[in-house]
This record gives sequence, C-alpha cells and structure tokens, in this order.
Amino acid sequence: MHCPFCRHPDSRVIDSRTADDGLSIRRRRQCPECGRRFTTTETASLTVIKRSGVVEPFSREKVMSGVRKACQGRPVTEADLAVLAQQVEESVRSSGIAQFDANEIGLAILPHLRKLDEVAYLRFASVYQAFESLADFDSAIEELRAHPNEPAARGARRDTEQGE
Ligand SMILES: [Zn+2]
Repeated sequence: MHCPFCRHPDSRVIDSRTADDGLSIRRRRQCPECGRRFTTTETASLTVIKRSGVVEPFSREKVMSGVRKACQGRPVTEADLAVLAQQVEESVRSSGIAQFDANEIGLAILPHLRKLDEVAYLRFASVYQAFESLADFDSAIEELRAHPNEPAARGARRDTEQGE
C-alpha cells in the first residue's frame, strides 16, 4: 500500500478492525518514510457466475438495473433501488460465501423487493422463480395476503439507519 503523502511504496499496519457494518476491515497504517498515518478499507471480493459461465464482480448497479425493469410504473425511486441493492449486497456478503450464481442473487433480491413494492415483487418473482402458470401467481399473491408486512429478512432495514 503506497503512502498517500510521499508515495513511499510500503506501509506498516498499526491497527486493524472490522468496520461497524461487519463487511469490511479498516486498517490504520503508518508510513515508515514520512511517519504519517492513514486509513484503508478493505472489502472481500464478491463475484457472480452468469448463466453464460462468465464470472464478473458483484455490482449493485446490475442489481438496480435488473429490479428497475420490474418497478416500471411503480412508486419506487432511484434512492429506493440504491438502498435495495445495498441490502442485497449485505445479505449475500453476510453469508460468508465469495461467489454466487446470478440466479442466487435474484433470489436474494426477492425478500427485499417484497418489502419495497409487492407488484414489482410479483413481476420479479415470476422471472426468478420461473412462474409457469396463473396458479403460480395465485399462490404467490395468496402468500402475500397471508403474510402482509412480514419482515423480509432479519435486520433488513437496520443498515439504512446507520451513519458512516
Ligand atoms: Zn509517506
């Protein structure tokens, strides 16, 4: 890690701790050349295997664009989508697994989208859970009616309330 002050190519870690969100590690470093201190944040890589077999880094933007289509005409803002994408990233990261199938990401989106907008949820679920008939929609709608406002996932909204 280069020193951001003098560009010295090495630095010494003087303290490491897990960030409050539990998803990254903050390291306090000191430059042996100029003696100044700085902080770095490291996040484990998270990759997605597409149906084509191509592996690419997890992208919140891709989550947002996938969900955006299902939200057309619905009262869902870009800010809502950004929060949802963050929640999805946090839920997949919290599993401790570093690589997912694209389909698993889709399934991870469902509980969060359900809390956001039920119509968008049904549209999205029809693709990711491969609804084949009206009966599949009926049972999904019955499920929504039977469990309104069911918490989507443990602590799903928790992180939106935390500051940096
Ligand atoms: Zn330095």
